Amino acid sequence: MSLDTAANGKWTDILTRLGVDGKFLSGKQCPCPMCGGKNRFKYDNQNRGTYFCRGCGSGNGWNLLRNLFGWDYNRTIKEVRNIVGDCKIMTTKKKDPREALRKIARVSKPISNDSDIVKYLYSRGIATVPNMLKEADLYYYEDGIKTGAFPTMVALISNKHGKGVSYHLTYTHQQQKLKCSAPKKMMTPVGTITGAYVELFPMEEHICLAEGIENALAIHDFIDKPVIACLSAHNLSEVDLPDFVKKVEIWGDNDASYCGQRASYTLAERLIREGREVEVKLPPVAGEDWLDYINRDKKLALEAVKETDPEFHQGITQLMNTFNATNVTITKIEEEA
Ligand SMILES: [Zn+2]
Repeated sequence: MSLDTAANGKWTDILTRLGVDGKFLSGKQCPCPMCGGKNRFKYDNQNRGTYFCRGCGSGNGWNLLRNLFGWDYNRTIKEVRNIVGDCKIMTTKKKDPREALRKIARVSKPISNDSDIVKYLYSRGIATVPNMLKEADLYYYEDGIKTGAFPTMVALISNKHGKGVSYHLTYTHQQQKLKCSAPKKMMTPVGTITGAYVELFPMEEHICLAEGIENALAIHDFIDKPVIACLSAHNLSEVDLPDFVKKVEIWGDNDASYCGQRASYTLAERLIREGREVEVKLPPVAGEDWLDYINRDKKLALEAVKETDPEFHQGITQLMNTFNATNVTITKIEEEA
């Protein structure tokens, strides 16, 4: 029996015995043992000790041990092997997530042009609102207390078979992200979120991938290609694409922690092995994602793709020149220069 099989279902006991504080393993939203915060972390005690964190992504018991204690692969194996024989299978009875998901499906409606969600996205510099995004007035709970109903952007998370596994929710208030501890929420999935994604635009043979939804939408506005949101760095690196996808552009985040870059290149390496064509594009400024970058200076961002995609750059430059010919403001700047 492999160690992974031996550990299956025993992770709560394994983690506790190896020194993970039980307060992180209650299955309720709480601070993350790895990256802090207030209630960004949730241990869902699936068979492999899986958890989700809005700060550092999702993972399983192995990831938790390695990231929390800084252990390498061999050390982690050794520690688990030493105790797994004594550990007990501990399962918490799980509520069927389908009931809550169906409820969201029932109350979600298409996003209307004058909706708060459209205004929220506009305020973030985003022009295109795909049909697959929906909206609903949903209650937000802070520490179990109902605070009020807010206009919420609802995004279906689905797997490569086109089956919905969960919903991603973004609560807004006065056309901004709701000021609360968790304005973005991933609902408990049917099965797993790992590998799944938000198919903002229909999957194609040549596809672009990004982490966050707003980020993916900004990239779509910028390059006019279908962009899929993988929701976190971890999920980007684990994304499970349909076989018909042959070419993938990974529009990663340039994190100061190198988290986004690592995820991008980890995925690139795997996709190459799977026989697909891959290109990684990272915004040039550390600490930024493409949304930040594109918003700060759309022209500068265009320069950044010049090197990697001369043909695309040329096309856009021509397009911009056409606009500039009749654009008084731009002419003025040129005269001053
Ligand atoms: Zn975390």
